[in-house]
Amino acid sequence: MAAPQSSLPGKVIIIGAGIAGASVAHAFARRGIAVTVLERAQPACGGSGNPVAVVRAEPGGAHHPIAALSAAGVLWLINWIAQHGQSVPHDFCGVLRLTRDARRHNKLAELARTASADWLRELSQEAASALCGQPVADAAFLLPQAGWVQPVALVNALLAHPLITLQTDAAVDSLLQDDMQRWQLTLADGSKLETALLVLASAFAAPLLPLAYGIASARGQLSCLPERAGKSLHMIVCRDGYITPAINGIHTIGATIQTNDDYAHARLADDAENFERLQSVLPDFVTDAAQLQSGRVSWRGVTQDRLPLVGKMAEGLYASLAHGARGITCAPLCGEWLAASMLGEDSPLSAEWQRLLDPLRFIKPD
Ligand SMILES: Cc1cc2nc3c(=O)[nH]c(=O)nc-3n(C[C@H](O)[C@H](O)[C@H](O)COP(=O)(O)OP(=O)(O)OC[C@H]3O[C@@H](n4cnc5c(N)ncnc54)[C@H](O)[C@@H]3O)c2cc1C
Repeated sequence: MAAPQSSLPGKVIIIGAGIAGASVAHAFARRGIAVTVLERAQPACGGSGNPVAVVRAEPGGAHHPIAALSAAGVLWLINWIAQHGQSVPHDFCGVLRLTRDARRHNKLAELARTASADWLRELSQEAASALCGQPVADAAFLLPQAGWVQPVALVNALLAHPLITLQTDAAVDSLLQDDMQRWQLTLADGSKLETALLVLASAFAAPLLPLAYGIASARGQLSCLPERAGKSLHMIVCRDGYITPAINGIHTIGATIQTNDDYAHARLADDAENFERLQSVLPDFVTDAAQLQSGRVSWRGVTQDRLPLVGKMAEGLYASLAHGARGITCAPLCGEWLAASMLGEDSPLSAEWQRLLDPLRFIKPD
């Protein structure tokens, strides 16, 4: 889809080559617009570098923003992978969702009665256990269209376009807007770049921007469990955390959430926490916490309403930030939406979404 010449912006620069930056870059490139992505280290070295991500809608009805965004994100990703992303390891194998309490169970049960069965289905404990191949702790809801993808491969596939120039080891140290409203970027090696159109996809706005945009940091640790004979799991099972089927011989169990915690190494206590998560969904799957091995540690940018910051921040400055716990699911759609709205195209998301995702919504008036 090539953009008409008159609507082509000048050079677009994107800061960050995680799922958010790669998605915006891809959306511009497939419209025929060249972009440069600046990445301080390597693509998918931040939150997007986990070995696996669960792609699932948060059940909650069309009026619930997180439910609606995640549902749209899942559908967008399923379609994109089917058309362009066959090289990305993935399996939309379905997710079994157990609920935390009776109130939530009843809410989902009500939803399941009106939702189409290929979207949400209530299952007895026996039926859920039979479907996933292991005894689950409780009755469950099946999300047939959910599954997993390998985020690093997805990021690389999105970036693999001749109109995308990726500069690695290119940390942006500071941003300044000049009198002509162009953005001046200074990189860590002292080199300078300028652009009229800049997209911040660095997960966090700080320290590049001075204002507080309401993004907190939440550390997350995964745990791993080697596949064992006679213990095969056919789909993802989740409650507060999740366990995946064995992928390349390893189940992934996740994930801890610790706000404002910079500790970069794995902790045994976090594996114990993930073991508890696993027990709450599959109580007989592993009996000894020591069987879990520490997985990757990374950080999410999170907001209090659990929605990302996507849209215009200032003249020539746009954001796709703070994708929280659902970035692999939702950032690709957000990238498409952001590029479309920057180019004045009809948006795949409604005007109401512009308000909900407004990157300035948490800035306190003076
Ligand atoms: C433990 C854990 C488990 C998760 N599980 C799931 C899941 O199952 N499903 C799901 O959908 N989501 C999941 N998420 C959320 C998802 O991983 C994130 O929302 C997503 O990766 C965020 O992508 P991003 O591109 O915004 O940020 P990142 O992937 O962090 O990318 C930001 C990039 O910007 C670069 N950068 C930052 N500052 C600069 C600078 N100044 N100059 C140049 N480059 C810079 C960084 O190096 C980085 O590569 C999980 C997150 C965590 C932490």
